[in-house]
Amino acid sequence: MKTIDHLYINGEFVTPHGSEFMEFANPSTGAPLTRVRLADETDAQRAIAAAKAAYPALSGSSREQRMDTLQRLHDAVREGEHELIEAMLDEYGGPLATTTGTVRRAAASFAVAKELLAGYDFVRQLGSARVQMVPLGVAGLVTPWNANYSFICGKLAMAIASGSTAVIKPSEMSAMQTAVLTGLLHRAGLPPGVFNIITGRGDTAGAEIVRHPDVAKISFTGSTAVGKAIARGAVETMKRVTLELGGKSPTVLLDDANFEKAMPLAIAAATFNSGQACLAGTRLLVPLHRLDDAKRLAAAEMSRLKVGDPRDPATRIGPMVSRRQWERVQHYIRLGLEEGAELLVGGEGKPQGLEAGNFVRPTVFANVHNGMAIAREEIFGPVLSIISYRTEEEAVQIANDTDYGLHAYVFSGDVARANRVASQIVAGRVFVNGLYDEPLAPFGGFRQSGLGREFGIHGLEAYLEPKAIMGYETTL
Ligand code: NAD
Repeated sequence: MKTIDHLYINGEFVTPHGSEFMEFANPSTGAPLTRVRLADETDAQRAIAAAKAAYPALSGSSREQRMDTLQRLHDAVREGEHELIEAMLDEYGGPLATTTGTVRRAAASFAVAKELLAGYDFVRQLGSARVQMVPLGVAGLVTPWNANYSFICGKLAMAIASGSTAVIKPSEMSAMQTAVLTGLLHRAGLPPGVFNIITGRGDTAGAEIVRHPDVAKISFTGSTAVGKAIARGAVETMKRVTLELGGKSPTVLLDDANFEKAMPLAIAAATFNSGQACLAGTRLLVPLHRLDDAKRLAAAEMSRLKVGDPRDPATRIGPMVSRRQWERVQHYIRLGLEEGAELLVGGEGKPQGLEAGNFVRPTVFANVHNGMAIAREEIFGPVLSIISYRTEEEAVQIANDTDYGLHAYVFSGDVARANRVASQIVAGRVFVNGLYDEPLAPFGGFRQSGLGREFGIHGLEAYLEPKAIMGYETTL
Protein backbone atom coordinates (compact mmCIF):
# COMPACT_ATOMS: atom_id res chain seq x y z
CA MET A 1 0.00 0.00 0.00
CA LYS A 2 1.31 3.41 -0.99
CA THR A 3 1.34 6.18 1.62
CA ILE A 4 0.55 9.66 0.33
CA ASP A 5 1.41 12.19 2.98
CA HIS A 6 2.39 15.38 1.22
CA LEU A 7 0.59 18.52 0.23
CA TYR A 8 1.89 21.21 -2.10
CA ILE A 9 2.01 24.63 -0.47
CA ASN A 10 4.08 27.65 -1.49
CA GLY A 11 6.08 25.67 -4.05
CA GLU A 12 7.08 22.94 -1.59
CA PHE A 13 5.98 19.44 -0.75
CA VAL A 14 4.99 19.61 2.91
CA THR A 15 3.66 17.22 5.54
CA PRO A 16 0.03 18.02 6.33
CA HIS A 17 -0.86 19.61 9.64
CA GLY A 18 -3.93 17.38 9.44
CA SER A 19 -3.39 13.99 11.05
CA GLU A 20 -6.36 12.04 9.70
CA PHE A 21 -5.64 9.13 7.37
CA MET A 22 -8.02 7.46 4.92
CA GLU A 23 -7.44 4.19 3.07
CA PHE A 24 -8.52 3.42 -0.47
CA ALA A 25 -8.64 0.25 -2.55
CA ASN A 26 -8.06 -0.42 -6.24
CA PRO A 27 -11.64 -0.34 -7.62
CA SER A 28 -10.91 -3.09 -10.18
CA THR A 29 -9.49 -5.63 -7.73
CA GLY A 30 -10.46 -4.52 -4.23
CA ALA A 31 -6.76 -4.71 -3.21
CA PRO A 32 -5.57 -2.04 -0.77
CA LEU A 33 -3.99 0.79 -2.76
CA THR A 34 -3.34 3.97 -0.79
CA ARG A 35 -3.20 5.40 2.68
CA VAL A 36 -3.71 9.15 2.48
CA ARG A 37 -2.91 11.76 5.09
CA LEU A 38 -5.46 14.52 4.68
CA ALA A 39 -5.17 18.29 4.81
CA ASP A 40 -7.18 20.10 7.47
CA GLU A 41 -8.32 23.69 8.02
CA THR A 42 -4.83 24.84 9.05
CA ASP A 43 -3.37 23.46 5.82
CA ALA A 44 -6.06 25.29 3.87
CA GLN A 45 -5.18 28.52 5.68
CA ARG A 46 -1.48 28.08 4.84
CA ALA A 47 -2.27 27.43 1.21
CA ILE A 48 -4.54 30.48 1.05
CA ALA A 49 -1.82 32.67 2.62
CA ALA A 50 0.71 31.43 0.03
CA ALA A 51 -1.69 32.10 -2.84
CA LYS A 52 -2.46 35.55 -1.45
CA ALA A 53 1.25 36.41 -1.24
CA ALA A 54 1.83 35.24 -4.82
CA TYR A 55 -1.13 37.18 -6.22
CA PRO A 56 0.39 40.67 -6.71
CA ALA A 57 3.21 39.34 -8.88
CA LEU A 58 0.98 37.07 -10.97
CA SER A 59 -1.77 39.63 -11.49
CA GLY A 60 0.87 42.20 -12.45
CA SER A 61 2.63 39.88 -14.89
CA SER A 62 2.40 40.47 -18.63
CA ARG A 63 0.28 38.51 -21.03
CA GLU A 64 3.46 37.03 -22.53
CA GLN A 65 4.71 35.89 -19.14
CA ARG A 66 1.47 34.12 -18.40
CA MET A 67 1.42 32.56 -21.87
CA ASP A 68 4.91 31.23 -21.18
CA THR A 69 3.76 29.85 -17.81
CA LEU A 70 0.84 28.06 -19.47
CA GLN A 71 3.14 26.57 -22.08
CA ARG A 72 5.43 25.22 -19.38
CA LEU A 73 2.49 23.69 -17.51
CA HIS A 74 1.29 22.11 -20.74
CA ASP A 75 4.69 20.60 -21.49
CA ALA A 76 5.12 19.29 -17.95
CA VAL A 77 1.76 17.50 -17.99
CA ARG A 78 2.29 16.20 -21.52
CA GLU A 79 5.64 14.70 -20.56
CA GLY A 80 4.05 12.78 -17.70
CA GLU A 81 1.28 11.24 -19.79
CA HIS A 82 2.29 7.65 -19.08
CA GLU A 83 2.56 8.11 -15.29
CA LEU A 84 -0.76 9.94 -15.21
CA ILE A 85 -2.54 7.20 -17.15
CA GLU A 86 -1.14 4.48 -14.88
CA ALA A 87 -2.25 6.25 -11.70
CA MET A 88 -5.75 6.87 -13.06
CA LEU A 89 -6.15 3.25 -14.17
CA ASP A 90 -5.14 2.02 -10.71
CA GLU A 91 -6.97 4.51 -8.56
CA TYR A 92 -10.06 5.36 -10.60
CA GLY A 93 -10.42 2.43 -13.00
CA GLY A 94 -11.52 4.51 -16.00
CA PRO A 95 -11.30 2.51 -19.25
CA LEU A 96 -8.05 3.11 -21.14
CA ALA A 97 -9.62 5.27 -23.88
CA THR A 98 -11.41 7.49 -21.34
CA THR A 99 -8.31 7.73 -19.19
CA THR A 100 -6.08 8.63 -22.11
CA GLY A 101 -8.62 11.23 -23.26
CA THR A 102 -8.78 12.77 -19.79
CA VAL A 103 -5.00 13.02 -19.55
CA ARG A 104 -4.68 14.60 -22.99
CA ARG A 105 -7.52 17.02 -22.27
CA ALA A 106 -5.77 18.03 -19.05
CA ALA A 107 -2.57 18.95 -20.87
CA ALA A 108 -4.48 20.58 -23.73
CA SER A 109 -6.38 22.85 -21.37
CA PHE A 110 -3.16 24.82 -20.75
CA ALA A 111 -2.57 25.16 -24.50
CA VAL A 112 -6.16 26.27 -25.08
CA ALA A 113 -5.92 28.85 -22.29
CA LYS A 114 -2.67 30.15 -23.77
CA GLU A 115 -4.36 30.65 -27.14
CA LEU A 116 -7.32 32.41 -25.55
CA LEU A 117 -5.03 34.67 -23.60
CA ALA A 118 -3.13 35.57 -26.77
CA GLY A 119 -6.27 37.02 -28.35
CA TYR A 120 -8.18 38.32 -25.34
CA ASP A 121 -9.02 42.02 -25.03
CA PHE A 122 -8.45 42.95 -21.41
CA VAL A 123 -9.27 46.61 -22.10
CA ARG A 124 -12.32 47.81 -24.02
CA GLN A 125 -13.74 51.23 -24.77
CA LEU A 126 -17.45 51.44 -23.92
CA GLY A 127 -18.77 54.93 -24.60
CA SER A 128 -16.58 57.27 -22.60
CA ALA A 129 -15.47 54.53 -20.23
CA ARG A 130 -12.35 52.45 -20.42
CA VAL A 131 -13.35 49.05 -19.16
CA GLN A 132 -10.63 46.84 -17.89
CA MET A 133 -11.10 43.12 -17.15
CA VAL A 134 -9.27 42.48 -13.89
CA PRO A 135 -8.49 39.24 -12.07
CA LEU A 136 -10.33 38.41 -8.88
CA GLY A 137 -7.61 37.35 -6.45
CA VAL A 138 -7.18 33.92 -4.88
CA ALA A 139 -9.35 31.28 -6.52
CA GLY A 140 -10.43 28.14 -4.64
CA LEU A 141 -10.74 25.24 -7.07
CA VAL A 142 -12.70 22.31 -5.66
CA THR A 143 -12.91 19.20 -7.83
CA PRO A 144 -14.52 15.70 -7.88
CA TRP A 145 -13.04 12.26 -8.52
CA ASN A 146 -14.47 11.35 -11.91
CA ALA A 147 -11.96 13.17 -14.13
CA ASN A 148 -9.49 14.49 -11.60
CA TYR A 149 -6.75 15.67 -13.96
CA SER A 150 -8.91 17.54 -16.43
CA PHE A 151 -10.87 19.35 -13.72
CA ILE A 152 -7.72 20.47 -11.92
CA CYS A 153 -5.88 21.51 -15.08
CA GLY A 154 -8.92 23.11 -16.74
CA LYS A 155 -9.62 25.33 -13.75
CA LEU A 156 -5.96 26.10 -13.02
CA ALA A 157 -5.31 27.07 -16.64
CA MET A 158 -8.09 29.67 -16.60
CA ALA A 159 -7.13 31.01 -13.18
CA ILE A 160 -3.55 31.58 -14.31
CA ALA A 161 -4.60 33.02 -17.67
CA SER A 162 -6.73 35.55 -15.79
CA GLY A 163 -3.94 36.43 -13.33
CA SER A 164 -5.50 34.74 -10.29
CA THR A 165 -3.56 32.41 -8.01
CA ALA A 166 -5.09 29.15 -6.84
CA VAL A 167 -5.74 26.85 -3.94
CA ILE A 168 -6.82 23.51 -5.34
CA LYS A 169 -8.80 21.05 -3.21
CA PRO A 170 -9.14 17.83 -5.21
CA SER A 171 -11.26 14.91 -4.11
CA GLU A 172 -9.80 12.87 -1.31
CA MET A 173 -10.55 9.84 -3.49
CA SER A 174 -8.05 10.95 -6.16
CA ALA A 175 -5.03 11.43 -3.91
CA MET A 176 -2.67 9.20 -5.88
CA GLN A 177 -3.54 10.79 -9.21
CA THR A 178 -3.20 14.21 -7.63
CA ALA A 179 0.23 13.32 -6.22
CA VAL A 180 1.48 12.36 -9.69
CA LEU A 181 -0.02 15.47 -11.27
CA THR A 182 1.40 17.73 -8.56
CA GLY A 183 4.89 16.37 -9.18
CA LEU A 184 4.55 17.22 -12.88
CA LEU A 185 3.09 20.69 -12.33
CA HIS A 186 5.93 21.42 -9.89
CA ARG A 187 8.43 20.69 -12.65
CA ALA A 188 7.00 23.61 -14.63
CA GLY A 189 8.90 25.83 -12.14
CA LEU A 190 6.24 28.42 -11.29
CA PRO A 191 6.87 30.98 -8.55
CA PRO A 192 5.93 29.65 -5.07
CA GLY A 193 2.29 30.05 -4.12
CA VAL A 194 0.86 30.55 -7.63
CA PHE A 195 -0.89 27.23 -7.18
CA ASN A 196 -1.22 25.13 -4.06
CA ILE A 197 -2.74 21.66 -3.84
CA ILE A 198 -4.29 20.34 -0.66
CA THR A 199 -6.01 16.97 -0.77
CA GLY A 200 -8.38 16.76 2.14
CA ARG A 201 -11.99 16.21 3.05
CA GLY A 202 -14.65 18.57 1.79
CA ASP A 203 -16.12 19.35 5.18
CA THR A 204 -12.71 20.40 6.58
CA ALA A 205 -10.20 21.68 4.01
CA GLY A 206 -12.91 22.40 1.42
CA ALA A 207 -15.17 24.23 3.85
CA GLU A 208 -12.26 26.40 5.02
CA ILE A 209 -11.66 27.57 1.45
CA VAL A 210 -15.33 28.45 1.15
CA ARG A 211 -15.29 30.32 4.47
CA HIS A 212 -11.99 32.17 4.21
CA PRO A 213 -12.22 35.92 3.51
CA ASP A 214 -9.00 35.92 1.44
CA VAL A 215 -10.52 33.67 -1.21
CA ALA A 216 -12.29 35.71 -3.88
CA LYS A 217 -13.77 32.99 -6.02
CA ILE A 218 -14.77 29.35 -5.87
CA SER A 219 -14.87 27.21 -8.97
CA PHE A 220 -16.51 23.95 -7.98
CA THR A 221 -17.33 20.78 -9.86
CA GLY A 222 -19.28 18.13 -8.00
CA SER A 223 -22.69 17.19 -6.73
CA THR A 224 -25.65 19.53 -6.64
CA ALA A 225 -26.03 19.04 -2.86
CA VAL A 226 -22.48 20.18 -2.14
CA GLY A 227 -22.76 22.95 -4.75
CA LYS A 228 -25.72 24.40 -2.84
CA ALA A 229 -23.76 24.28 0.44
CA ILE A 230 -20.86 26.07 -1.24
CA ALA A 231 -23.11 28.76 -2.69
CA ARG A 232 -24.65 29.35 0.73
CA GLY A 233 -21.23 29.55 2.38
CA ALA A 234 -19.68 31.73 -0.31
CA VAL A 235 -22.28 34.46 -0.05
CA GLU A 236 -21.04 35.38 3.45
CA THR A 237 -17.91 36.94 1.93
CA MET A 238 -19.57 37.52 -1.46
CA LYS A 239 -17.22 35.18 -3.28
CA ARG A 240 -17.83 34.74 -6.97
CA VAL A 241 -18.91 31.17 -7.67
CA THR A 242 -18.88 28.91 -10.67
CA LEU A 243 -20.74 25.68 -9.99
CA GLU A 244 -20.63 22.71 -12.35
CA LEU A 245 -23.09 20.23 -10.88
CA GLY A 246 -25.09 17.18 -11.78
CA GLY A 247 -27.36 16.28 -14.66
CA LYS A 248 -30.08 13.95 -15.91
CA SER A 249 -29.64 14.68 -19.56
CA PRO A 250 -32.15 13.71 -22.24
CA THR A 251 -31.27 12.03 -25.52
CA VAL A 252 -34.11 12.72 -27.93
CA LEU A 253 -34.47 10.24 -30.79
CA LEU A 254 -36.86 11.86 -33.26
CA ASP A 255 -39.00 9.52 -35.31
CA ASP A 256 -37.17 10.30 -38.57
CA ALA A 257 -33.77 9.35 -37.10
CA ASN A 258 -31.78 6.39 -38.35
CA PHE A 259 -31.97 4.37 -35.13
CA GLU A 260 -29.24 1.92 -36.25
CA LYS A 261 -26.79 4.80 -36.55
CA ALA A 262 -28.05 6.80 -33.60
CA MET A 263 -28.24 4.05 -30.98
CA PRO A 264 -24.48 3.38 -30.60
CA LEU A 265 -24.04 7.14 -30.06
CA ALA A 266 -26.96 7.30 -27.60
CA ILE A 267 -25.52 4.37 -25.63
CA ALA A 268 -22.07 5.95 -25.67
CA ALA A 269 -23.63 9.18 -24.36
CA ALA A 270 -25.29 7.21 -21.55
CA THR A 271 -22.13 5.37 -20.57
CA PHE A 272 -19.27 7.88 -21.03
CA ASN A 273 -16.66 7.34 -18.34
CA SER A 274 -18.39 4.14 -17.14
CA GLY A 275 -21.54 6.22 -16.61
CA GLN A 276 -19.78 8.33 -13.97
CA ALA A 277 -20.21 11.47 -16.03
CA CYS A 278 -22.21 14.58 -15.28
CA LEU A 279 -23.10 14.98 -18.95
CA ALA A 280 -24.35 11.41 -19.41
CA GLY A 281 -27.50 11.12 -21.54
CA THR A 282 -29.38 8.84 -19.16
CA ARG A 283 -32.94 9.45 -20.33
CA LEU A 284 -33.56 8.11 -23.83
CA LEU A 285 -36.73 9.65 -25.28
CA VAL A 286 -38.18 7.61 -28.14
CA PRO A 287 -41.36 7.93 -30.24
CA LEU A 288 -44.03 5.50 -29.08
CA HIS A 289 -44.60 4.09 -32.58
CA ARG A 290 -40.91 3.13 -32.84
CA LEU A 291 -40.53 1.96 -29.23
CA ASP A 292 -39.99 -1.72 -30.08
CA ASP A 293 -37.15 -0.87 -32.46
CA ALA A 294 -35.56 1.39 -29.87
CA LYS A 295 -35.82 -1.22 -27.11
CA ARG A 296 -34.29 -3.94 -29.26
CA LEU A 297 -31.40 -1.78 -30.44
CA ALA A 298 -30.69 -0.24 -27.03
CA ALA A 299 -30.61 -3.65 -25.36
CA ALA A 300 -28.36 -5.09 -28.06
CA GLU A 301 -25.97 -2.14 -27.99
CA MET A 302 -25.73 -2.02 -24.18
CA SER A 303 -25.12 -5.80 -24.03
CA ARG A 304 -22.22 -5.43 -26.44
CA LEU A 305 -20.27 -3.10 -24.12
CA LYS A 306 -17.37 -4.93 -22.54
CA VAL A 307 -17.20 -4.52 -18.78
CA GLY A 308 -13.96 -5.28 -16.99
CA ASP A 309 -10.26 -4.54 -16.68
CA PRO A 310 -9.76 -0.87 -17.52
CA ARG A 311 -6.33 -1.70 -19.01
CA ASP A 312 -7.92 -3.86 -21.70
CA PRO A 313 -8.37 -1.54 -24.73
CA ALA A 314 -11.66 -3.31 -25.56
CA THR A 315 -13.20 -2.39 -22.18
CA ARG A 316 -15.92 0.24 -22.36
CA ILE A 317 -17.13 0.12 -18.74
CA GLY A 318 -14.68 0.00 -15.85
CA PRO A 319 -15.50 -0.41 -12.16
CA MET A 320 -17.37 2.18 -10.13
CA VAL A 321 -14.87 4.33 -8.24
CA SER A 322 -15.76 2.98 -4.79
CA ARG A 323 -17.87 0.44 -2.99
CA ARG A 324 -20.16 3.29 -2.01
CA GLN A 325 -20.69 4.32 -5.62
CA TRP A 326 -21.34 0.66 -6.51
CA GLU A 327 -24.01 0.50 -3.82
CA ARG A 328 -25.58 3.72 -5.09
CA VAL A 329 -25.99 2.19 -8.55
CA GLN A 330 -27.45 -1.02 -7.04
CA HIS A 331 -29.89 1.10 -5.04
CA TYR A 332 -31.19 2.78 -8.18
CA ILE A 333 -31.48 -0.49 -10.12
CA ARG A 334 -33.57 -1.91 -7.25
CA LEU A 335 -35.63 1.27 -7.18
CA GLY A 336 -36.29 1.00 -10.92
CA LEU A 337 -37.61 -2.53 -10.47
CA GLU A 338 -39.74 -1.52 -7.49
CA GLU A 339 -41.16 1.41 -9.43
CA GLY A 340 -42.31 -0.98 -12.15
CA ALA A 341 -39.84 -0.21 -14.93
CA GLU A 342 -39.16 -3.03 -17.39
CA LEU A 343 -35.62 -4.42 -17.15
CA LEU A 344 -34.28 -5.02 -20.67
CA VAL A 345 -30.65 -5.86 -19.84
CA GLY A 346 -28.41 -5.76 -16.78
CA GLY A 347 -29.84 -5.62 -13.30
CA GLU A 348 -28.52 -5.94 -9.78
CA GLY A 349 -25.23 -7.60 -8.81
CA LYS A 350 -21.84 -7.98 -10.42
CA PRO A 351 -21.10 -9.39 -13.86
CA GLN A 352 -19.86 -12.98 -13.74
CA GLY A 353 -16.12 -13.30 -13.18
CA LEU A 354 -15.78 -9.72 -11.95
CA GLU A 355 -16.76 -10.24 -8.33
CA ALA A 356 -13.62 -8.70 -6.79
CA GLY A 357 -14.00 -5.15 -8.13
CA ASN A 358 -16.79 -2.58 -8.03
CA PHE A 359 -18.22 -3.70 -11.36
CA VAL A 360 -21.87 -3.19 -12.24
CA ARG A 361 -24.03 -4.66 -14.99
CA PRO A 362 -24.82 -2.03 -17.65
CA THR A 363 -28.56 -1.70 -17.38
CA VAL A 364 -31.40 -0.55 -19.62
CA PHE A 365 -34.88 0.06 -18.30
CA ALA A 366 -37.88 0.56 -20.58
CA ASN A 367 -41.42 1.54 -19.67
CA VAL A 368 -40.01 4.35 -17.54
CA HIS A 369 -42.17 7.27 -16.60
CA ASN A 370 -40.44 10.61 -16.26
CA GLY A 371 -41.75 10.91 -12.71
CA MET A 372 -39.85 7.82 -11.49
CA ALA A 373 -36.75 8.31 -9.34
CA ILE A 374 -34.57 6.61 -11.99
CA ALA A 375 -35.68 9.30 -14.45
CA ARG A 376 -35.25 12.23 -12.08
CA GLU A 377 -32.15 11.53 -10.00
CA GLU A 378 -28.56 11.33 -11.11
CA ILE A 379 -27.38 7.72 -10.74
CA PHE A 380 -23.76 8.19 -11.91
CA GLY A 381 -23.45 4.70 -13.35
CA PRO A 382 -24.31 2.91 -16.64
CA VAL A 383 -28.08 2.84 -16.19
CA LEU A 384 -30.32 4.07 -19.01
CA SER A 385 -34.05 4.80 -18.83
CA ILE A 386 -36.16 4.62 -21.99
CA ILE A 387 -39.16 6.95 -21.93
CA SER A 388 -41.68 7.13 -24.77
CA TYR A 389 -43.38 10.20 -26.20
CA ARG A 390 -46.18 10.74 -28.74
CA THR A 391 -45.35 14.06 -30.39
CA GLU A 392 -42.32 16.29 -30.87
CA GLU A 393 -43.87 18.79 -28.44
CA GLU A 394 -44.21 16.10 -25.83
CA ALA A 395 -40.58 15.04 -26.39
CA VAL A 396 -39.44 18.60 -25.66
CA GLN A 397 -41.75 18.82 -22.65
CA ILE A 398 -40.35 15.60 -21.15
CA ALA A 399 -36.77 16.61 -21.98
CA ASN A 400 -37.31 19.83 -20.03
CA ASP A 401 -39.22 18.22 -17.17
CA THR A 402 -36.17 17.88 -14.93
CA ASP A 403 -34.48 19.80 -12.12
CA TYR A 404 -31.30 19.80 -14.19
CA GLY A 405 -30.19 21.40 -17.46
CA LEU A 406 -26.61 20.45 -18.19
CA HIS A 407 -26.68 18.65 -21.50
CA ALA A 408 -28.91 17.18 -24.21
CA TYR A 409 -28.55 15.05 -27.32
CA VAL A 410 -30.84 15.17 -30.35
CA PHE A 411 -30.92 12.75 -33.29
CA SER A 412 -32.98 13.31 -36.43
CA GLY A 413 -32.80 12.66 -40.18
CA ASP A 414 -33.78 16.29 -40.72
CA VAL A 415 -31.13 18.67 -39.49
CA ALA A 416 -33.47 21.67 -39.41
CA ARG A 417 -35.89 19.73 -37.22
CA ALA A 418 -33.05 18.57 -34.97
CA ASN A 419 -31.92 22.16 -34.52
CA ARG A 420 -35.48 23.30 -33.82
CA VAL A 421 -35.77 20.75 -31.03
CA ALA A 422 -32.25 21.57 -29.76
CA SER A 423 -33.20 25.23 -29.48
CA GLN A 424 -36.18 24.36 -27.26
CA ILE A 425 -34.29 22.22 -24.76
CA VAL A 426 -33.15 23.98 -21.61
CA ALA A 427 -29.54 22.82 -21.37
CA GLY A 428 -26.11 24.38 -21.37
CA ARG A 429 -25.02 22.20 -24.28
CA VAL A 430 -26.81 20.24 -26.96
CA PHE A 431 -25.15 17.73 -29.29
CA VAL A 432 -26.98 17.30 -32.60
CA ASN A 433 -26.56 14.02 -34.52
CA GLY A 434 -23.21 13.15 -32.98
CA LEU A 435 -20.81 13.39 -30.05
CA TYR A 436 -18.35 16.28 -30.01
CA ASP A 437 -15.47 17.78 -28.10
CA GLU A 438 -15.05 21.54 -28.45
CA PRO A 439 -12.81 23.09 -25.81
CA LEU A 440 -13.83 26.63 -26.79
CA ALA A 441 -17.55 26.01 -26.26
CA PRO A 442 -18.94 27.08 -22.87
CA PHE A 443 -19.69 24.26 -20.47
CA GLY A 444 -22.16 24.44 -17.61
CA GLY A 445 -25.78 24.10 -16.81
CA PHE A 446 -29.14 25.74 -16.41
CA ARG A 447 -31.22 25.31 -13.26
CA GLN A 448 -29.77 22.91 -10.66
CA SER A 449 -26.94 21.86 -12.97
CA GLY A 450 -25.05 24.89 -11.82
CA LEU A 451 -24.10 28.50 -12.12
CA GLY A 452 -21.84 30.12 -14.68
CA ARG A 453 -19.78 28.53 -17.41
CA GLU A 454 -16.34 27.05 -17.86
CA PHE A 455 -14.12 26.76 -20.96
CA GLY A 456 -13.43 29.21 -23.73
CA ILE A 457 -13.99 32.95 -23.38
CA HIS A 458 -16.91 32.40 -21.01
CA GLY A 459 -14.69 30.30 -18.78
CA LEU A 460 -11.90 32.87 -18.78
CA GLU A 461 -14.30 35.69 -17.99
CA ALA A 462 -15.58 33.74 -14.99
CA TYR A 463 -12.21 34.63 -13.39
CA LEU A 464 -12.34 38.30 -14.39
CA GLU A 465 -14.42 41.27 -13.36
CA PRO A 466 -15.02 44.49 -15.31
CA LYS A 467 -13.71 47.70 -13.87
CA ALA A 468 -14.78 50.94 -15.58
CA ILE A 469 -12.58 54.03 -15.53
CA MET A 470 -14.05 57.32 -16.69
CA GLY A 471 -12.07 60.52 -17.01
CA TYR A 472 -8.91 58.60 -17.69
CA GLU A 473 -7.74 61.36 -20.04
CA THR A 474 -8.88 64.22 -17.82
CA THR A 475 -6.40 66.50 -16.10
CA LEU A 476 -7.40 68.99 -13.44
P1 NAD B 1 -18.99 15.88 -4.24
O1 NAD B 1 -19.90 17.01 -4.43
O2 NAD B 1 -19.23 14.93 -3.15
O3 NAD B 1 -17.49 16.40 -4.01
C1 NAD B 1 -16.85 17.26 -4.93
C2 NAD B 1 -15.72 17.99 -4.22
O4 NAD B 1 -16.26 18.85 -3.22
C3 NAD B 1 -14.74 17.07 -3.49
O5 NAD B 1 -13.44 17.60 -3.60
C4 NAD B 1 -15.24 17.16 -2.05
O6 NAD B 1 -14.26 16.84 -1.10
C5 NAD B 1 -15.64 18.61 -1.97
N1 NAD B 1 -16.59 18.96 -0.90
C6 NAD B 1 -17.51 18.16 -0.32
N2 NAD B 1 -18.18 18.85 0.63
C7 NAD B 1 -17.68 20.11 0.64
C8 NAD B 1 -17.96 21.29 1.39
N3 NAD B 1 -18.90 21.30 2.32
N4 NAD B 1 -17.25 22.40 1.13
C9 NAD B 1 -16.30 22.41 0.18
N5 NAD B 1 -15.99 21.33 -0.55
C10 NAD B 1 -16.67 20.19 -0.34
O7 NAD B 1 -18.96 15.16 -5.65
P2 NAD B 1 -18.20 13.84 -6.07
O8 NAD B 1 -18.92 12.69 -5.44
O9 NAD B 1 -16.73 13.98 -5.85
O10 NAD B 1 -18.44 13.85 -7.66
C11 NAD B 1 -19.60 13.39 -8.26
C12 NAD B 1 -20.56 14.50 -8.56
O11 NAD B 1 -19.93 15.50 -9.33
C13 NAD B 1 -21.75 14.07 -9.37
O12 NAD B 1 -22.95 14.52 -8.78
C14 NAD B 1 -21.57 14.73 -10.72
O13 NAD B 1 -22.71 15.04 -11.41
C15 NAD B 1 -20.78 15.92 -10.39
N6 NAD B 1 -19.99 16.33 -11.55
C16 NAD B 1 -20.35 17.46 -12.26
C17 NAD B 1 -19.64 17.83 -13.37
C18 NAD B 1 -20.00 19.06 -14.17
O14 NAD B 1 -19.13 19.59 -14.83
N7 NAD B 1 -21.21 19.53 -14.14
C19 NAD B 1 -18.57 17.09 -13.78
C20 NAD B 1 -18.23 15.96 -13.06
C21 NAD B 1 -18.95 15.61 -11.93
